Amino acid sequence: MTHPVIGVLALQGDVREHLAALEAAGATALPVRRPEELGRVQGLVIPGGESTTISKLAAAFGLLEPMRERVRSGMPAYGSCAGMIMLADKILDPRSAQETIGGIDMIVRRNAFGRQNESFEAAVELDGVAGGPVPGVFIRAPWVESIGARAESLAEYDGHSVAVRQGRLLATAFHPELTGDHRVHRLFAEMVRDAT
Ligand code: GLN
Repeated sequence: MTHPVIGVLALQGDVREHLAALEAAGATALPVRRPEELGRVQGLVIPGGESTTISKLAAAFGLLEPMRERVRSGMPAYGSCAGMIMLADKILDPRSAQETIGGIDMIVRRNAFGRQNESFEAAVELDGVAGGPVPGVFIRAPWVESIGARAESLAEYDGHSVAVRQGRLLATAFHPELTGDHRVHRLFAEMVRDAT
């Protein structure tokens, strides 16, 4: 089986955890900090962290437009938590001038589940992932406030969608990269393989 080459946007956030999870899922994982590095990958993960910071740094590093362009032209992308926010077409409560890559027809609410000390873990049944629920780590997580016709919710928690897929784009409000359960990364590696 071939190893898809998958980048992790490495400006801020839990980059190392995603790199390790991708390698465990059978991909070749590379950090992406520059447009040239983006050019070398077949798929991209946007990590958890702080979406306002990731957005600012992505603009400063000249990566925001190139990432939008790659996503528009069909590159698979997966975002966890802050990464989910980066893949949303719209943020309900953006910090001033907070920009996203976009691509998923949804509106997300930042910090929807409360503050850092209200972080929690819950078992999440995820469509398209066999073998029982995945452990969901929610850290100042967003939820999906509304979802457009082109996107599909894969999981709900507490009445809100917390995982979405639209074609080659995948987003989770929680952090599979922190759990040692690599099924979500395997699903994404499969999406990248299918696209290439
Ligand atoms: N609340 C953060 C944000 O708005 C996301 C937190 C996370 O990625 N764990 O970006």
